[in-house]
Amino acid sequence: MFANIIIDITHEKLDKIFQYRIPSELEGMLEVGAEVEVPFGRGNRLTKGYIIGFSETCDYDLSKVKAINGLAEKSVGIEAKLVALAAWMKEHYGGTMIQALKTVLPIKRQESAKVKRQVRLLLSKEEAEEKLLLYQKKNQKARARLLEALLRDGTDGVLPYELVVQKLNITRTVVRALEEQNVLALESENVFRNPLADNPGIGADQEESESSEKAFSYTTAQKEAIQTVWNGLKAGQRTWLIHGVTGSGKTALYIEWIKRTVSEGRQAIVLIPEIALTYQTVMRFYHQFGDRVSIMNSRLSAGERYDQMVRAKEGKIDVMIGPRSALFTPFPNLGLIVIDEEHETTYKSEQVPRYHARETAIRRAELEDAGVILGSATPSLEAMYRARNGEYGLITLTERAKAHAKMAQVEVVDMRAELKEGNHSILSHSLYEKMEQRLKDGEQIMLFLNRRGYAGFLSCRECGHVIKCPHCDVSLSTHRGGKLVCHYCGHEEYKPLNCPECGSKHLGEFKVGTQQVEDVVQKMFPQTRVLRMDLDTTRNKNGHEEILSAFANEEAQILIGTQMIVKGHDFPNVTLVGALAADMSLYADDYRAGERTFQILTQAVGRSGRGEKAGEAVIQTYSPDHYAIQTAAAQDYEGFYEQEMYYREMMGYPPVEHLLAVLLSCEEETLLETGADYLKNFAKRAAGKAPIQIIGPASPSIGKINDIYRKVLYLKTEKYDTLVKMKNRLEQYIEINSGYQKIRIQFDFDPMHL
Ligand code: ADP
Ligand code: ZN
Ligand code: ZN
Repeated sequence: MFANIIIDITHEKLDKIFQYRIPSELEGMLEVGAEVEVPFGRGNRLTKGYIIGFSETCDYDLSKVKAINGLAEKSVGIEAKLVALAAWMKEHYGGTMIQALKTVLPIKRQESAKVKRQVRLLLSKEEAEEKLLLYQKKNQKARARLLEALLRDGTDGVLPYELVVQKLNITRTVVRALEEQNVLALESENVFRNPLADNPGIGADQEESESSEKAFSYTTAQKEAIQTVWNGLKAGQRTWLIHGVTGSGKTALYIEWIKRTVSEGRQAIVLIPEIALTYQTVMRFYHQFGDRVSIMNSRLSAGERYDQMVRAKEGKIDVMIGPRSALFTPFPNLGLIVIDEEHETTYKSEQVPRYHARETAIRRAELEDAGVILGSATPSLEAMYRARNGEYGLITLTERAKAHAKMAQVEVVDMRAELKEGNHSILSHSLYEKMEQRLKDGEQIMLFLNRRGYAGFLSCRECGHVIKCPHCDVSLSTHRGGKLVCHYCGHEEYKPLNCPECGSKHLGEFKVGTQQVEDVVQKMFPQTRVLRMDLDTTRNKNGHEEILSAFANEEAQILIGTQMIVKGHDFPNVTLVGALAADMSLYADDYRAGERTFQILTQAVGRSGRGEKAGEAVIQTYSPDHYAIQTAAAQDYEGFYEQEMYYREMMGYPPVEHLLAVLLSCEEETLLETGADYLKNFAKRAAGKAPIQIIGPASPSIGKINDIYRKVLYLKTEKYDTLVKMKNRLEQYIEINSGYQKIRIQFDFDPMHL
């Protein structure tokens, strides 16, 4: 038998399988996924690697095949199923196999688990008392002291080692001596760090809150959804999309399906965008699953994260909640993967392999015969498109679960008109008046500054016109030197002096920050306490949670912030949400700009009126007629989907067609340009008669980072598999062409940003 091994060195040239003999002493001890040490390269340096399979035969000269040295020291193996998943990821997203393996095994072995040590008496009471007399007679004070302590009532002959050393002043030597005489044993027990139990405020004795799942009975719509999905999963409909307005009880449903999964002896993973992984959410799961639930996020130490993996592997937990990487939790019998806020862009990795958690979850579920549930108030176009094609099951929830909670009333304010009337403030008249009223009534307000996707586009302050690429229908970006550039096709033009639409001279880049908004608001309402949440104010470890709980406790009446404030929070006293500069994200140089704007505005509006009092929202914009703004204001997902799909179909953007971005980077500009051109020509030849559109090369949004130049080439076609094949062809071409040695190449399928 030979082991097929991937060497743990990230280098395109080493991205292949190496075969090794299995020495007799290791026979039967090695599994797929094992981390081993092998002699490698010149000088046979011991190098780590992972076994990804076994073969009866060897493809190399037998006399030259080396033997595995042994398991790697402190090895952390990968589950065989996750090795298979890694292979799929490498094929579908590019990169090397070792990069894929490292992605499904995101954590290195840490000083595991704190060890709790204790001293246990091995003698009977009589024997011990006899020994004690002996020690006293010999004047062996330390031994006598320890034995006395172990004989004391209530100890059961067991004492924590720390206490023995620190309080009784017994040395390690004394303990060892008694151990040798079989008087006592020094035992150790692994204590895994448990982020929930160790978190003050979350504990078994926590009172059950009103929102605990045990406190209510399901609505008719919820009951139907529970049954339909559950039966569907059993009948082989593996993936489900739950399209439900904020507050429709999606989380309550996830908990129910997970409960059922767990009762069948299987485990569940819940993916949540990191930013929405809050105390409130975790508590709801904790109430249901207690110590059998754990969390994974970037605020845990590496040691804590490692322990959570071990707990999962050993069957000590049933539910893992975490961001994207929690998808690779090594559960023994995975039954369900839930992806909440399925539309979030953070589910796409920015590192090679640039995988999408949605597709990867579906693949993992296939490999392990599990189910996948995607939930969102504003599903991604991808998910809805597939649901409508019948690939996913679809559940629609249109009502809020709490009988009294109604959707908010929304007003759209045209900021161009405000300007004409002489109002130059960040706040419109209407928003100002509504704020005044709500403050008087003792209610709370959120002001949301939409800064996402801001990329330096040029717009007219008088008519709202945005300068766009004539070929691609995405906005042009301003570059130094007065040029406007399309990051998609490379089109360039000079900045116009006047608005091509209305002739106005007021063309500018739109810029306003949260600090500015806070200053304005504080000046207008000097008596009111205002909180601000952005990257500056949340820098410390718990900053995020502190601000949110201060606001939840009504220590302030107004909360100002970026997109951070609109995710996953329930503030029952918030009755007014103001979205400032709602269209800032609309003209990002990106085909997903409309989708993002619609999603973020819908979420923002959804924050208002979640309690008993009715809520309202004000959307301030320079483009009140844009369909993304209009449909968000009307909370009309269907309407948005229709219009957006029309645009995607016309332009051939995902999900209708698929896009592969080939990113090239290099320190030498001319080398890069030649490399990009040659690659484009090769791609054209490789495509042959296949209907593949090849676009670019263009400069991406940031054309140069740290003196490294970048270019991007786009391949567009209807079938994803065609792009995978093209990627493989390009990889081969790059490998055999020495011209690409200094050029780094990465692939990005259906990129989140152009
Ligand atoms: P979503 O995840 O769709 O935003 P949640 O599950 O968070 O919805 O539900 C919104 C609120 O309604 C929560 O406070 C939840 O406890 C409550 N809730 C959910 N289902 C019911 C129900 N059947 N009866 C009463 N309250 C419910
Ligand atoms: Zn204009
Ligand atoms: Zn263009």
